[in-house]
Amino acid sequence: MNIALIAHDRKKEALIQFVSAYTPIFEDHILFATGTTGKKIIEATGLPVHRFQSGPLGGDQQIGAMIANNEIDLVIFFRDPLTAQPHEPDVSALLRLCDVYDIPLASNMGTAEVLIHGLERGDFNWRTLDE
Ligand code: PGA
Repeated sequence: MNIALIAHDRKKEALIQFVSAYTPIFEDHILFATGTTGKKIIEATGLPVHRFQSGPLGGDQQIGAMIANNEIDLVIFFRDPLTAQPHEPDVSALLRLCDVYDIPLASNMGTAEVLIHGLERGDFNWRTLDE
């Protein structure tokens, strides 16, 4: 599966802890991330991560383009609900595309826990059916 990982600044530590905790699962998949999030995940876990631009510089849009091309199977995007983001339109567009294409999306740790266990169990294998 191709997994997109994104975290706003005040949520980066939480995402790093999450990815670190589930490294044995994530290492079986192909990881993509916005620039700074990807850099920090690589530093913390050593996992290979394809990095795009930083979110405010277009990284969310690059991941959105992958979703539109049916190239992303799961999105984990830890948003900061308490801080205004300069690239809010890009964030909204990314979330909207997940809904357009029925891509599983976790916007917080609680949902991410459920999705990662579903991933391990094979719940998302339907994503590979038409490959
Ligand atoms: P970043 O981008 O990983 O480059 O910080 C995330 C975002 O703010 O959308």
